[in-house]
Amino acid sequence: MLIEHYDLEVFTPPCDPGSERFAATARLTTDISGVFPYLNATLRGAVYLREANALTWKKGGHNIAFHAFEISTSNVEDRAAAEKELKGLIDLVNRTWERRDEITPDAETHQRPTPMAIYKLLPQTNCKQCGEPTCYTFALKLTTSQKKIADCQPMFEPQYAGKLAELREIIIEAPAIG
Ligand code: SF4
Repeated sequence: MLIEHYDLEVFTPPCDPGSERFAATARLTTDISGVFPYLNATLRGAVYLREANALTWKKGGHNIAFHAFEISTSNVEDRAAAEKELKGLIDLVNRTWERRDEITPDAETHQRPTPMAIYKLLPQTNCKQCGEPTCYTFALKLTTSQKKIADCQPMFEPQYAGKLAELREIIIEAPAIG
């Protein structure tokens, strides 16, 4: 197990004093830099900044940052939510580290696909089967991992096979957290 101990800090963001949302940081006693190329290879939308020895990721409205000795997340409701979110991220790091022999590490910095780039590959019928009012809203949520490709069932119709393949090229589905 890579991370065995950590201290949790939950605080109001300094840029937004009095906010009802919180930021949280897990301070680590172990250097987790070695897992970054494996997270970069498996997390949809991750941006690995090798020079800065950091990896950022957006998930479900949270901006997440992994540094050598800390993991931070933003926009959490309360302390309990912060604890749950960070525990999930720590489990993710540990699981990824344990699976590293099965993963080809990736040290490149990839640009996140833009919502418009994703939208161009969707059926653009605004059929609402995914639970979103428009395909563009779905594209926005796909970029932040609030939706999965499988949530758009029309995408699996034969006429979209080519676009589905392109979508899968630019989007790596994230593993479950927690
Ligand atoms: S299910 Fe697919 S095609 Fe229908 S609105 Fe959602 S993204 Fe668009």
